[in-house]
Amino acid sequence: MKNSRTPPSRTKGFVTTLPFRSQQTDDADADSDVSVWRSAENLCDLENPDTHCDTVAGLYYGSAEDEVVKFCPRHFYQLHSASDAPYRLDDVKAGEETTPHNPDQTHE
Ligand SMILES: [Zn+2]
Repeated sequence: MKNSRTPPSRTKGFVTTLPFRSQQTDDADADSDVSVWRSAENLCDLENPDTHCDTVAGLYYGSAEDEVVKFCPRHFYQLHSASDAPYRLDDVKAGEETTPHNPDQTHE
């Protein structure tokens, strides 16, 4: 019997981590990397009969830091760009990770 626990970034089909992060819109502390996996089967967490998945490229988006769910491109970008989207995409710029660019110090 093999141990089924696998380090996140080494799971089957891992492709890359993209240079932007997924930021939860109602929690400034909740953000995660955006990574891509390739899979022949649909890994999308939102697969259902009403909103079909984009499976043409066989690519699925999720976080390697917290690999719980993955989404097809359609549903991933829907989660990040709909008018009431719970997440948005923040670009990672050089040097920004160590330099706070927008400190929340607005005490009125
Ligand atoms: Zn989907």
